[in-house]
Amino acid sequence: MSTAVVVGSGPNGLAAAVLLAQQGISVTVLEAADTIGGGTRTAELTAPGLLHDVCSAVHPFGIASPYLSQLPLAEHGLTWRWPAVDLAHPLDDGTAGVMLHSLDDTAAGLGADGDRWRRTFGPLAEVLDDLAPDVLGPLVRLPKHPLLMARFGLRAGLPATLLWKRFRTEQAKALFAGSAAHAFTPLNRPATAGVGVMLVAAAHRHGWPVAEGGSQAITRALASLLTSLGGRLETGVQVDRLPDADVVLLNTGPLAAARISGTEAPRFRYGPGVFKVDLAVRGGIPWRAPACREAGTLHLGGTAAEVAANEALVTRGVMPERPFVLLAQQYLADPTRSVGDLHPVWAYAHVPAGWTGDATEAVIAQVERFAPGVRDVIEATSVMSPADYAAYNANNVGGDIAGGGNQLRQLVSRPRPLRPYDIRPGVFLCSASTPPGAGVHGMGGFHAAQRALSYLRSR
Ligand SMILES: Cc1cc2nc3c(=O)[nH]c(=O)nc-3n(C[C@H](O)[C@H](O)[C@H](O)COP(=O)(O)OP(=O)(O)OC[C@H]3O[C@@H](n4cnc5c(N)ncnc54)[C@H](O)[C@@H]3O)c2cc1C
Repeated sequence: MSTAVVVGSGPNGLAAAVLLAQQGISVTVLEAADTIGGGTRTAELTAPGLLHDVCSAVHPFGIASPYLSQLPLAEHGLTWRWPAVDLAHPLDDGTAGVMLHSLDDTAAGLGADGDRWRRTFGPLAEVLDDLAPDVLGPLVRLPKHPLLMARFGLRAGLPATLLWKRFRTEQAKALFAGSAAHAFTPLNRPATAGVGVMLVAAAHRHGWPVAEGGSQAITRALASLLTSLGGRLETGVQVDRLPDADVVLLNTGPLAAARISGTEAPRFRYGPGVFKVDLAVRGGIPWRAPACREAGTLHLGGTAAEVAANEALVTRGVMPERPFVLLAQQYLADPTRSVGDLHPVWAYAHVPAGWTGDATEAVIAQVERFAPGVRDVIEATSVMSPADYAAYNANNVGGDIAGGGNQLRQLVSRPRPLRPYDIRPGVFLCSASTPPGAGVHGMGGFHAAQRALSYLRSR
């Protein structure tokens, strides 16, 4: 029987481990931390019983993942839950851009931009499940669906700032700008529309769900499936050199992978960082725009132009006065996370790489801007700086939570243009630093495990 060691138990590491175990390989996962899960852990950060996601919160690509969606994860404890509103983007005039699972209802709410929203994203949402295997993998290869990819490329290849010019209302522009800003990169660069286009298409195909009981349920389900297939997991094991096995998969950054495998490091750049603020809120946040009170995710950053200007500053290493903030109210979809009317709220600001300041006040001020009176309902706060994230998980270099910068070269091919998963014969990279990049979808692990399987077959 062939043997495999997977170093790291993030969603990509566990997806790789499950695929190898499904093929009859003896798999061991070694995890440096005391608990499995990497960027999907859940903890009582602010008050006893209140379940906060330490890292990932909302999972459009968890449910849309071509690999994870094939696995019997529900039998291993994973239940997706949806909020009534997927995304709200409040504005200073008290209104909000509102994105719902239903394309028609979203279009109806966007008034003058309804038809344009439908024509821009509807065709892609319809074919998302066919498109996903091509987009959630290496882009430098022959696509399975070349026509669909060409249609996707026509929109995704644009700078986000150009794509939102087709909208007239600030609500639609901001809704898209905030989604594109998930890429942590200046929004006037080519192909920065891609992440936003995929996130919006995913919303209208599957919604933006959260995992019942916290994001940890995703990796717990993967780990449970792995052990049912005979795989083993060991925690508290920091790996500094190559373990002995027929194949080794590294769920690490590319520079750490080079150190561990004794190979030359690729030219690779990390992106900006995050400063996270978790809140315990009594009775919920008093948002001015009613849709925000039902939204699983909110983008706080004002107009599309303001979001773009502040993202550009962050990439240049300058901390904006009003940074772009992502906020999630997972408890609306999953009440098991609250204690009575005390609710956990998750938020983070985009900040420059390695930034050492305290953004707590800036994050709360962005919430207060759209929810006056919020300070009266905050009962506890917990913060994590870029340095805290880097210490929490070696993959978060400088507080970068996306596994590397999303400048064009690394968007298209990370960490190398060809064979992005191969490090040396028998050793593979399987983290978010490989295509398709950040997010809880397991597709980096899936593709790396496919490379490992083809290596084993060729021996
Ligand atoms: C604050 C925050 C918010 C996020 N929000 C979302 C979100 O809402 N939705 C979403 O889809 N994604 C989100 N993400 C991103 C998502 O969490 C990551 O993209 C994803 O977890 C990457 O998975 P991975 O398996 O590549 O690596 P990771 O999840 O980072 O796991 C890597 C694991 O490997 C271990 N490891 C590393 N080096 C070694 C070593 N040498 N020896 C042993 N073990 C090692 C680490 O301890 C870690 O457990 C967020 C991330 C953060 C931090």
